[in-house]
Formats: sequence, structure tokens, C-alpha cells
Amino acid sequence: MYGLTESDLQIQARARRFADELIPFEPEAELNGGTLPKEVTANHAARARELGLCAPNLPAELGGGGLSTLQQVLIQEQAGRVTNALGWVASTPPSWLPAVATPDQLERYVRPAVRGEREECYAITEEGSGSDVSSLTATAHRDGDGYLLNGTKWHVTSFNTADFAFFQAVLDGGEHDGEHAMFLVDLPSPGVSVVRTPAYSHTISHEHPIVAFTDVRVPAANLVGAEGDGMRFAHEWFRFERLMVAARCVGAAERLTAEMTAFARERQAGGRPISEYGLVAGMLADSLTELFAARSLLYETARGIDRGTGVKVAHAQCSMAKLYCSEMAGRVADRAVQVFGGRGYMRENVAERFFRELRVERIWEGTSEVQRDIIARQMVKRGPAALA
Ligand SMILES: Cc1cc2nc3c(=O)[nH]c(=O)nc-3n(C[C@H](O)[C@H](O)[C@H](O)COP(=O)(O)OP(=O)(O)OC[C@H]3O[C@@H](n4cnc5c(N)ncnc54)[C@H](O)[C@@H]3O)c2cc1C
Repeated sequence: MYGLTESDLQIQARARRFADELIPFEPEAELNGGTLPKEVTANHAARARELGLCAPNLPAELGGGGLSTLQQVLIQEQAGRVTNALGWVASTPPSWLPAVATPDQLERYVRPAVRGEREECYAITEEGSGSDVSSLTATAHRDGDGYLLNGTKWHVTSFNTADFAFFQAVLDGGEHDGEHAMFLVDLPSPGVSVVRTPAYSHTISHEHPIVAFTDVRVPAANLVGAEGDGMRFAHEWFRFERLMVAARCVGAAERLTAEMTAFARERQAGGRPISEYGLVAGMLADSLTELFAARSLLYETARGIDRGTGVKVAHAQCSMAKLYCSEMAGRVADRAVQVFGGRGYMRENVAERFFRELRVERIWEGTSEVQRDIIARQMVKRGPAALA
């Protein structure tokens, strides 16, 4: 099905086996604030590495998997079948970085990230700047052989586990005054402090604190690419991550569809399985139909990128995949809770966890409204046939 090759199927099977190994740990993670004992998490990370599931998006010459986009999607799809972000140990370091990194940055950041020794976080969003990244106000001021960084960043995912951050700022002064630049900031660094760590809907071990950067000094060698390049990197990351969000949503919907079907087959009400009630059967049928449509869209988008689809079209198609797959998964999770009845409202139930966890997929990496805006603009510019 889906025209997967033998090597695609092997990668998919390895990722699936790994996801199945993680699933039994979900209730424990849920009831412990998302956290498992350190040695258990370390074992999971080692296992992901052993199965070749880490850094599939980085070239083989840097130690990565060098996998096709479709194969990366197949791995993330399986990671998405697991709740509480336990699948995040199948890490995907920034694949846009090697093309612009200096040899020194390759050694200090990229290679260690591929080996699983260093982890990144993204400090881009601010209190007044989320969807509109171009309006952010954090500053970078050239000072001798380095830069002084200032600004307060919101929702910095994985700040508690990361040991370097990408910090996007507006250049203050110099030839590129007012343009954006991206910097690598080692963590901890003097001047970087957590303002507060809010609680979020999901239960995962990765925190999303508000982080203040006050007169943080970084050497000029930590500028990524050139001054003025900041927005370009954000777009490259968005394209990759939106497709991976879509993949994880498809994985989540597959898990939910399987679990609700099994439950509806077994659960008796009024002397027969609830799957025999048309209203329940409708929820099952709609969920599977939407899952099939979403997966077809996802795989075709990934294949297009592997075939060399132009960047603008790929950008819009990744938006379509993220929009449809995240909204589809939200609908499936809602139905799954309904099919499970009271059990679906218990935190030990997979449907309850996904119902909360999937909500953010419509918000981060660009909200659904932002995706619609991107798609519509490209439609008007290129014509619908160029995109679909
Ligand atoms: C759990 C979590 C983790 C996150 N992790 C990170 C991270 O690691 N690093 C990071 O930098 N950021 C992170 N974010 C931030 C995330 O990317 C933003 O929340 C998101 O881009 C939306 O921005 P906002 O929250 O400021 O909402 P706003 O931009 O204020 O949007 C509010 C509402 O207005 C709508 N809207 C805004 N502009 C338009 C428009 N042009 N057209 C139509 N509707 C519009 C939005 O769709 C939304 O419904 C994270 C967020 C969450 C919730």
C-alpha cells in the first residue's frame, strides 16, 4: 500500500517496533508530569539510536541517516503514535544548519547534535510576536568581536533539556540595521535566565519557559549564516517541521483509530457491541476515511520534495499537510473520547491524552490560520493546479 519500497518498509517497521516499545510507558509518564526515571529515558534514547531513528534528516557524511523525506516522515509518523512526547527521543536536529554552518559550528553544534550529545531549542517567539515572526523586537548589537543579545522569548520548548539555543533577533545598528539574524547561544550563558515556567495542557517532560536574554554576549563566530539571513532560516525550519507535525498527527490518528475500533468491537451496550450502533460506526468510518486522506496527502507531499518540487510550492504543500493532518487528528481524538465514553475522559486513556496533546498541533509551527493564509496566497499567485 502507498507504493512504499522495501527499504521504506524496513525503516517503517523499525520505527513501529520502537513506538510499540514506548507505548507501555505512557501511563507512568502521564501520572509523573511527563517524566520517566532518568535511566529509562536514557535507554529509550539509546534504543532509538541503535535502531537508526535519530538524525534521519542529516546527511550521512555528518553521521546522520541521510534518509529521503518520505522515510523521515515514516519515522515521525510512528513517533506520533506515542503520547507524552516519549517519541521525541527519535531526534531531528536542524537539517537546515549544515548548509550555512561554518566548519567551527559544524564541530561544536551539528556533529554533537547528530551524535545525540547536544540538543537545541528555539528562542524565537515573543510576548508580542508569534504568528508574525517579522515583528519580533529582541535585538542583536555588534560589540567588538561579538554581539550583545537582548530580549525575552516565550514558549522556549525543551529549554530544560537543551544545551544551546537558536536566538532570532533584529540587528541594532550596522549595515543591516533592522534586519533579522540568528545566533547560537550556549546554555547556560551569563545573562540567560528563566522568567517563569508556565504549565501547559499536555503532560510532557519538555518545558516551555519564558526566558530572558539580558546583555548576553556571543562571539561573532556564533552568528548563523550572514546578518540579514534570520527570516530565511525560520522559513526553512518551518517547512521541515510542518511536514513532521503532519506526520506525527497521522501517527496519532492511526493509533486512535485502532484503539477506538478495538474498544467499539468489545464494548457491549444494550446487549450488542457499540460498533453495531450506526452513530458509533459513523465515528469510526469518518475517522478512518480522514486518516486515509491525510496519509495520502502527507506521503505525496514528501515524495514531491524528494522529486525536487520547487521551494514555494513545497512550502504551500507543507502548509496543506500540516493544516489538514493536524485538524484531522483533532477531530479523530474528539471522536475517540466519545467512543470510549467515560473511560475516554480518564487520563490513563490514550484518547484523553491525545485529546489534550493534539490541540497544540494547530497552533505551533504556525497556526491553522497562518497555514490557510500561506496556501491561499500561493493559490492566487500560481493557480490551484500548481499546488494540488
Ligand atoms: C506548547 C508550545 C510550544 C512552543 N514552542 C516554541 C518554541 O520552541 N520556540 C518558539 O519560538 N515558539 C514556540 N511556540 C510559539 C508558537 O509558535 C506560537 O504560539 C504560534 O506561532 C502562535 O503565535 P501566538 O501564540 O503569538 O499567537 P498570535 O500570533 O497572537 O495569534 C493569535 C490568534 O490570531 C490568529 N492570527 C494571527 N495572525 C493572523 C493572520 N495574519 N491571519 C489570520 N489569523 C491570524 C492566530 O491564528 C491565532 O488564532 C510554542 C507554542 C506553544 C503553545
